[in-house]
Amino acid sequence: MTLEVVSPRIRGFICINAHPVGCASSVAAQVARAEELRASFPAGGNALVIGASTGYGLASWIVAAFARRMASIGVFFERPPSEKKTASAGFYNAAAVTRLAAERGLRTAAVNGDAFSNAVRSDVLERIRREFGPIDLLVYSLASPVRVHPDEGRTIRSTLKPVGQPYTTKSIDLDRGRVIDVTLEPASTEEISDTVAVMGGDDLARWVRALSDARLLAPGARVLAYSYIGPKLTWPIYRTGTIGLAKSDLEKTTRTLDAELARSINGRAWVSVNAAVVTQASSAIPGVPLYLALANRVLAQEHLLERPIDQILRLFAEHVAPGRTPRVDEEGRIRIDDREMKPEIQKRIAEGWQSITTENISELADFEGFQRDFRQLFGFEIADVDYAKPVEIEASLP
Ligand code: NAD
Repeated sequence: MTLEVVSPRIRGFICINAHPVGCASSVAAQVARAEELRASFPAGGNALVIGASTGYGLASWIVAAFARRMASIGVFFERPPSEKKTASAGFYNAAAVTRLAAERGLRTAAVNGDAFSNAVRSDVLERIRREFGPIDLLVYSLASPVRVHPDEGRTIRSTLKPVGQPYTTKSIDLDRGRVIDVTLEPASTEEISDTVAVMGGDDLARWVRALSDARLLAPGARVLAYSYIGPKLTWPIYRTGTIGLAKSDLEKTTRTLDAELARSINGRAWVSVNAAVVTQASSAIPGVPLYLALANRVLAQEHLLERPIDQILRLFAEHVAPGRTPRVDEEGRIRIDDREMKPEIQKRIAEGWQSITTENISELADFEGFQRDFRQLFGFEIADVDYAKPVEIEASLP
């Protein structure tokens, strides 16, 4: 037993600790939200969520388990607690998901390990075979800056850089709340191919083909992979930058997998283009925290602001639950970024982007909201949590 008062230890876009009670409370709120819509979905089936402990993957695990009442396996890569150090937020989140599911008699398994590795993939397949049976829904929501290549053993790092020419963007100095200019040099050829190797479609294809070869995909199984497009003002660092090229590769791979699954098991694979939200992955992209602070103010004013849990509930309800046929764009992608991308919303964000400075940031953008959302990712600033009280930082997964 290790009791501690836990206060946030944040530097820029990194928070090195997490509050166990705050994380559990935030998961419980998302579970309650998912359960409100339980009656709209048929129950049953098996789900596998890769990248299930935070952000969009956590929301997907919660919706699969608590709204759709599927038996579910969450795969993630998180730091467990040690004697002096809290666990990472994702570890506490996963512990809360499995506990709340067990209380309701829902079957879940949590696998904490490197999903890029052949060993973890084989372990997960073995658990599916032994404990679950074929998968009806696979959600791929892994976001990582690094991948140890499963065959070559080399450590590959992704970069967040423009391609072709340098790019200067407005950004926020997250520690001081100042609007600054950041210039990013273009990526080298190697940095581009490395980013595609980490965040492109290769790992998704390995998972889908391994499941398929092992006959662990149910007839009609559905696969979802997440992507982002965003407005032109972020394109040099996102869509046409290194990460965007990786996402294009993921989208291309998903189309290939879609054709393969259609032939073999009458299955489908789609990319869902989700809205920009505050997560650990998005906060690390230069310019994106400022964009989110502006966008979230405009979206909240228009009552269009959605958290990951709202987005994923809508994705399931409108597009991918059994019996639903997704509406897709001309490239076959589901678009739940439709609210963020409304022309009138984007016009207002672009105007704000042009004129925003350190002096008028609190008038034009919701930077405080961004900071609150960011701290909440780690279990801080959650309503009704007593942060002065020592809490048990030890936790375990079943
Ligand atoms: P996140 O940082 O909140 O979550 C990443 C997840 O990946 C965590 O569960 C983490 O444990 C897991 N992970 C990382 N490395 C792993 C590994 N080696 N093995 C197993 N698990 C690993 O990320 P997010 O922002 O929710 O992004 C998830 C997906 O959604 C990504 O594809 C991202 O591009 C997409 N997306 C994000 C946004 C956004 O604004 N955040 C918008 C649209 C689409």
